[in-house]
Amino acid sequence: MLLARRIRGGYSCLSFHRRPPEMILDPLYFVLLAPAMLLSAWAAFATRSRFQRWSQVPNRRHVSGAQAARYILDRNGLTDVQIQPARGMLSDHYDPIHRVVRLSEDVYYGSSISSLAVAAHEVGHAIQHQQRYLPMQLRNLAVPVASLGSNLGWFLIMIGFLLSFAQMIWAGVILFTATVAFQVVTLPVELDASRRAKLELDRLAIVSPSEKPGVSKVLTAAAMTYVGAAITGILTLLYFLLRLGAFSPREE
Ligand SMILES: [Zn+2]
Repeated sequence: MLLARRIRGGYSCLSFHRRPPEMILDPLYFVLLAPAMLLSAWAAFATRSRFQRWSQVPNRRHVSGAQAARYILDRNGLTDVQIQPARGMLSDHYDPIHRVVRLSEDVYYGSSISSLAVAAHEVGHAIQHQQRYLPMQLRNLAVPVASLGSNLGWFLIMIGFLLSFAQMIWAGVILFTATVAFQVVTLPVELDASRRAKLELDRLAIVSPSEKPGVSKVLTAAAMTYVGAAITGILTLLYFLLRLGAFSPREE
């Protein structure tokens, strides 16, 4: 009897029979996700406002972001890494394939505290690449799986719920887990790049002690956007698992 019920139960995880529109309006989703949503919204706001606030403050040496980046790269033996201006606010990134640090125009040409912080952070990624920093290698490997997981994963979960097809939902959840793993492994990469940025700016005396708090404020807000994304991912995954009944006690 017990055995029969278990077999029939099979994917007894489908204690969930709601339809997607109900799921979207599901209070559990908002209760679970609200703190992460608030954190993400605050981080996005703080990143922009702090960047703009410290863009108004010129650094004492009147060094542009591009000059600071060049100096830090050269002092780390990365003379062959290029620096290019890029369009769009906060579009700054390091391209590991072409080995180019791309800085938004405000950062590239600007000689503010914000310019130094962001330029040094991107150079931090170039140094990670040079040193084969393990979390960065893992993140680069996870990029294709993560982009597949975030699109196809959501698609399978939605269609699975619509059809009450448990196997499809689980396939979606597994793909979505890959995306969350990517967001989690991104955290040490970003925090370490900011740590290196502060270290290099200080070590090479590009910033004075009185300029360090401004650099920290700009970088901390940016790091919180990654923390917010990772927590949102983990809680969304938790929501799916709860709704799938993975944690509910088995019927005996
Ligand atoms: Zn970064």
